[in-house]
Amino acid sequence: MKSELVLYNTLTRKKELFKPIKPPFVGMYVCGPTVYGDPHLGHARPAITFDLLFRYLRAQGYKVRYVRNITDVGHLQNDADDGEDKLAVKARLENLEPMEVAQFYTDRYHRAMDELNVLPPSIEPHASGHIMEQIDLVQEILDKGYAYESNGSVYFDVEKYAESHGYGELSGRKIDDMISNTRDLDGQSDKRRPLDFALWKKASPEHIMRWKAPWSVGFPGWHLECSAMSVKYLGEEFDIHGGGMDLMFPHHECEIAQNTAASGHGAARYWVHNNMITINGQKMGKSLGNFITLEELFSGNHKMLVQAYSPMVIRFFILQAHYRSTLDFSNEALQAAEKGLDRLIAAIETIDKIVPGERSTVDVADLEKRCCDAMDDDLNSPMVISALFDWVRIINQLHDGTQTISAADLESLRGIVHRFAFDILGLRDDMCTGKNDLVGPLVEMLLDMRQQAKADKDWATSDKIRDGLTRIGIEVRDRKDGYDWSVK
Ligand code: ZN
Repeated sequence: MKSELVLYNTLTRKKELFKPIKPPFVGMYVCGPTVYGDPHLGHARPAITFDLLFRYLRAQGYKVRYVRNITDVGHLQNDADDGEDKLAVKARLENLEPMEVAQFYTDRYHRAMDELNVLPPSIEPHASGHIMEQIDLVQEILDKGYAYESNGSVYFDVEKYAESHGYGELSGRKIDDMISNTRDLDGQSDKRRPLDFALWKKASPEHIMRWKAPWSVGFPGWHLECSAMSVKYLGEEFDIHGGGMDLMFPHHECEIAQNTAASGHGAARYWVHNNMITINGQKMGKSLGNFITLEELFSGNHKMLVQAYSPMVIRFFILQAHYRSTLDFSNEALQAAEKGLDRLIAAIETIDKIVPGERSTVDVADLEKRCCDAMDDDLNSPMVISALFDWVRIINQLHDGTQTISAADLESLRGIVHRFAFDILGLRDDMCTGKNDLVGPLVEMLLDMRQQAKADKDWATSDKIRDGLTRIGIEVRDRKDGYDWSVK
């Protein structure tokens, strides 16, 4: 298989031609959600970015094993080595078993992903279900001499590792700068040096999530799960590791160090990171009052939102920016995305109404080439959308007869547009046009009755149907060969 896909590799800071280790198989690991709160806007971007990559690789004929984990243990307050487990805090506050909390929010995450038309990964391992693998990895790192035990906890020895390996290469940090920028330990910690990070933590008496290990009854450090589970399901070397840019340091840097310490080399060849979302120019955060859950977006139930936005509008909005660019959410930007998506979907529906002619005055192959070139160029979804929009105009010209298309070209136009808009960008023709399961057929039925009334010169009935539809927000436009309708 000949791949033309070029991906930006964070590790080398270069765009590289994507070459899988064992084509046609591709192994892809993406850091998934933590499950101690409602899925929010911050979850949508990585999920959609790697869904786009997953869909495109599959469309290229690759057999992709896509692993996306669920972090249900070890994620401590402030992402630090000390403090309570965030999931356990939630469980204690709500008087629940921690796994009840994890299940509850995992289910909500899945529902939100379904709404966003994000395909489920091939494997979705839970950190809490892979404690044995994590203990084994800690032991391997200890055996290789890159970790030490201290009062029942085990820490990764960053400075020792950095003597012979490039700690900081992924995030572009220099070990000397990191050392001089850290404060000295206050004497309370079991760590030898500030940069060291926990592989295993001894549980304090009040800590409820705990497992037996050779060093203590405790729990794994947060970075460990991804190192252990990616290798378990994808092998010691695999193709792609993805996640949000906020995970690059320390999480991904620590993952590379752990895998390298254990096996002598890093596990992933291509590191792919999506950029962050801001809201009205600000970072999203609970303390800033601009934290928006996906459910609030879909319902419009948040003080910052002037209306509800359908999951497809959110998806389309995210795809309108390149995944490595920042993306700013605002009502104006979302409303513009909604209008754009409506136009695109309306044009896709118009394709079915085009009457083919003898010959084509349009070049369908050019659309396919532009879409493929854009996707191959580091998943440039905004360029795909811009090519599709150029064709919205052409489709309307083909419909009103100012341009013509042959039957064969019309068939391939339909195929190309459906492939890129629905299969690869993952858009769905529903919510925004209102032409979902029932509305569409009902409107079509009424408009057929109106056509009959017009044919019978029963103008009163014809007007009654059109005015009734207008009142409920459905605009009807008469054309010489029938009619068109859309939701206003
Ligand atoms: Zn991870």
